Amino acid sequence: MILDMTPILNGSATKIPFRYEYTPGEAIAEDIVFPAPVTVSGEVANMAGYMKLTLSTDFSYDTECARCLAPIHKEMHLTVERDVAGEKTLEEEDNDDYLIFGQDGLDLDEPAEELLFVNIPMRHLCREDCLGLCPGCGKDLNEGPCSCAKKKTDPRLAILGQLLQKDPDTESNDISLTEGGATNGSTEE
Ligand SMILES: [Zn+2]
Ligand SMILES: [Zn+2]
Repeated sequence: MILDMTPILNGSATKIPFRYEYTPGEAIAEDIVFPAPVTVSGEVANMAGYMKLTLSTDFSYDTECARCLAPIHKEMHLTVERDVAGEKTLEEEDNDDYLIFGQDGLDLDEPAEELLFVNIPMRHLCREDCLGLCPGCGKDLNEGPCSCAKKKTDPRLAILGQLLQKDPDTESNDISLTEGGATNGSTEE
């Protein structure tokens, strides 16, 4: 949505509230599904010399555990404040700190999408210590050990197993991904 900034520019208002439904683009993240549009709300306020945007997003989304593929549903409320300036009022040098609006008004979709993009984790876990699926038989190890673990491994077969584990389908057992999961856990709300 493009917010008409005229009421602030001509002095007839000091605040312009807004509220609308926004459908996120596909760029947000893979495996993230929004069952309903994102509610975007807030206001632009004239703060004697500059303008401030306060923008909130309310939404839920569906995804799956990166290790065991269990469905995950999350609800989020996010808020951001940004300084706003008209494109003609800024100096030559681009200032990334400002949201710039043109003659038509201020594009609210852009800061809304950025807020989602920055805050939705790239990877989700159903729980911090999810055991994931066995790369051998595909069993959900959260439900108990599978028979693969009990088999005594022939050293020659172990080498074969290491080769098989380089298959991209087993990347959920990659150690670096496991570390990422711990970071994601702290962003849960
Ligand atoms: Zn899981
Ligand atoms: Zn197994």
